[in-house]
Amino acid sequence: MKPRHRILALVVAVVLAAAVVLIASAVPRRPQPAQSPSGETTRSLDTLEATRAPLRELPPSGIATAPAPLQPTEPRAFDADAAMADVRVLEAFGVRAGGSDAEARTAAWLHAQLEGMGLDARIEEFALPSGATSRNVIARIEGLSDAVVVLGAHFDTKPPSPGANDNASGCAALLEIARILTESPVVPTLEIIFFGSEETLGRDRDAHHFGSRYRVAQMSAAERRQTAGMISLDMIGYGPAFHSRTMGRGPMLLSDMLLAHAAGLGIDMTYRKDPGSSGWSDHEAYELAGVPVSWIQWRDDPVYHTAGDVSGHLQPDRIETAGRLVLEFLRSLDAQALKRLLER
Ligand SMILES: [Zn+2]
Repeated sequence: MKPRHRILALVVAVVLAAAVVLIASAVPRRPQPAQSPSGETTRSLDTLEATRAPLRELPPSGIATAPAPLQPTEPRAFDADAAMADVRVLEAFGVRAGGSDAEARTAAWLHAQLEGMGLDARIEEFALPSGATSRNVIARIEGLSDAVVVLGAHFDTKPPSPGANDNASGCAALLEIARILTESPVVPTLEIIFFGSEETLGRDRDAHHFGSRYRVAQMSAAERRQTAGMISLDMIGYGPAFHSRTMGRGPMLLSDMLLAHAAGLGIDMTYRKDPGSSGWSDHEAYELAGVPVSWIQWRDDPVYHTAGDVSGHLQPDRIETAGRLVLEFLRSLDAQALKRLLER
């Protein structure tokens, strides 16, 4: 090649390369599918396809080449830092005994958080045996199915505890889960409930779970039949052992499914039955009503129900594990799984 031709060829090559770069940057990128640690990349999309017929209008399957307004966005991962920030806010309300002013102020704050997510939240008041008023805070995240999964966490504390682990940890995880799932809904409709007055009041060891017992008592037979499961997040911020718990008196399917899902994610979780007859968290009333339940808990916490239950002693990775498991589990619930849970 002559020098002049060489220069010409070089100029042509540079122009071509620039054109390729320009075209490549102008082509819209397709959103990447969600990647879960268990490699379930396409499962959620397949799920949406498989459940299209009997359910409400569904977003596109993600196969489309250009981003559409209803395109499911890439689900955000559970953020333990965001959860810890909420733990510290809840802790700052101080001791939040059932029926106290601090409990009422906490309810108002939780209500504001849910409304801030664009949810239509409500406060359900109920009377305690003392005559004082306590409250549940409730909001729904509409899913692609009418089948309901209840996600609960109690926000009261046992004096003198400021309740960072018991149970700001569960409330904070529930807020983070709600934030994520309002952005990227799942198949089940979720009922988010922050329960008041879970802890014992006075010396009677069975005088507890007032908010959840009240809530279940308000449910019609049709609502109970429509409730596929209930998960209680209670004390998920500290401890060496991770459990799915029930009283062992109701359907075990949800707990079994959760344990299997944890195993699939490489999370070491074992079953633990509540001692005694009354149950040790807000799953109790749901379990006795025949709803499949699981109480998710890390244990043991040596500062349980003491003034030492402050945010500084928490292990944020524990909250993250619990939060991630619940998120991934909810995403795995397709129409078929919900049908099995509803058939009990
Ligand atoms: Zn608790």
